[in-house]
Amino acid sequence: MDNKHYDVCIIGAGPGGIFAAYELLKNEPKLKIAIFEAGNSLEKRHCPIDGVKVKSCAHCPTCAIMHGFGGAGAFSDGKYNITNQFGGNLHEYIGKSKAIQLMRYVDDINMHNGGEGSKLYSTASTSIKKLCLQNKLHLLDATVRHLGTDKNYVVLKNLYAKLKDSVDFYFNTPVRKILHEGKQFTLKTDTTSFSGDKCIVSVGRSGSKWMEQVCKELGIVTHSNRVDFGASFELPAEIFAHLTDELYESKIVYRTEKYNDLVRTFCMNPYGAVVAENTNGIVTVNGHSYSDPSKHTQNTNFALLVSKHFTEPFDDSNAYAESIARLSNMLGGGIIVQRFGDLTRGRRSTVARIEECFITPTLTATPGDLSLVIPKRILDGIIEMIYALDKIAPGTANDETLLYGVEVKFYNMEVEIDSNLETCHKGLYVIGDCSGVTHSLSHASASGIYVARKICGID
Ligand SMILES: Cc1cc2nc3c(=O)[nH]c(=O)nc-3n(C[C@H](O)[C@H](O)[C@H](O)COP(=O)(O)OP(=O)(O)OC[C@H]3O[C@@H](n4cnc5c(N)ncnc54)[C@H](O)[C@@H]3O)c2cc1C
Repeated sequence: MDNKHYDVCIIGAGPGGIFAAYELLKNEPKLKIAIFEAGNSLEKRHCPIDGVKVKSCAHCPTCAIMHGFGGAGAFSDGKYNITNQFGGNLHEYIGKSKAIQLMRYVDDINMHNGGEGSKLYSTASTSIKKLCLQNKLHLLDATVRHLGTDKNYVVLKNLYAKLKDSVDFYFNTPVRKILHEGKQFTLKTDTTSFSGDKCIVSVGRSGSKWMEQVCKELGIVTHSNRVDFGASFELPAEIFAHLTDELYESKIVYRTEKYNDLVRTFCMNPYGAVVAENTNGIVTVNGHSYSDPSKHTQNTNFALLVSKHFTEPFDDSNAYAESIARLSNMLGGGIIVQRFGDLTRGRRSTVARIEECFITPTLTATPGDLSLVIPKRILDGIIEMIYALDKIAPGTANDETLLYGVEVKFYNMEVEIDSNLETCHKGLYVIGDCSGVTHSLSHASASGIYVARKICGID
């Protein structure tokens, strides 16, 4: 039985963990580093949904979309947003210019490891900003590198090739417990234990429940966070082409007239596909797209989300959204799809109505009625924004626009960490999405670089 000791133990092989290992090795090649990952190695990650034999989520014990080398980002659209305006609050811990500098550094690494040639988009000096403002919409500033699902995979493959001879990878090895004993950390897995002088936890959103347990056991303070939820939209790519061709992803925010709530676009995937994702047994919607034109679909998808943050007496925002997602799973057996025209006419969509559509859905989902699932206030806001978007992208409010629900963006509770991203236990760092501080590829990756440099004593 091995009870190995490492200089640094990293839990989770998502972008946070990978970039932490990369930077540790770059600065101190002799460090003994282990990465523990609940899921598979990259080449063994495989979601059984093929649209033919398996059409909807098969509830695998470990979701190949969320777990394994590359983390939740492995089959993502690979959109690296270089901005402090969304994607996380890393800048509040490490400063705005440092955060941008590290996101750019991550971009350089990606470009040197298979991402070269991918397009960099920017909102700087776009006329779309004015068009948005004229229609009560607000375009957020960002620079976006779109790797695409295909190139993102190549980058991960190349990063793994660089790390594998110097880092001990333990796949299919979820860490169950962290103990702080003396000056070191003991990590318990199902079969054995390991120890490390430093421990970096980067278990992402899929590790949120476990992270909560770790914080309780180690007496680390946590704070409730918000949750974003709503629906995913799919429409013919031509409708948004003038925005997506120039900006790729446009993050647009709208304040509703009825309730003064903020609704925002999220994860825009031009010529992409809608996908189902399984987080802790709950099936929700997401989307991605390939950079390779031969893999393009005819459709663009994006989500419209509203944030909710519960504090008192109920403070579990995620649990609220989870029960809405569960309700949707109960009614639809998974994801529900509805035509916008059916939603506004107060009727459910049926298989026949979906089949009659001129648009071909990219995800097989159950036709139904999302108004029975999404709370009225949220749905009213989403519908209002659809009509606002229709003014800058006519056709958005067409009857045939498809809504998939529900899309939920769970945020982990905020773990109390300092400006080193270190907990009250010296040497225990919490980075990436599981910290509640980051919510994106670029912020999670940058947090990994930041902590690696702190461990190496570099600023
Ligand atoms: C379908 C999809 C598309 C997305 N598209 C984009 C996009 O285009 N742009 C963007 O910025 N963001 C996108 N995101 C979000 C992005 O993937 C995450 O923000 C990012 O991956 C977070 O990185 P992370 O390292 O913090 O966590 P993760 O990537 O979630 O990695 C955490 C890893 O830890 C492992 N783990 C969990 N618990 C344990 C445990 N107890 N022991 C060992 N290992 C454990 C998990 O298996 C996982 O592999 C997308 C997400 C999904 C699901």
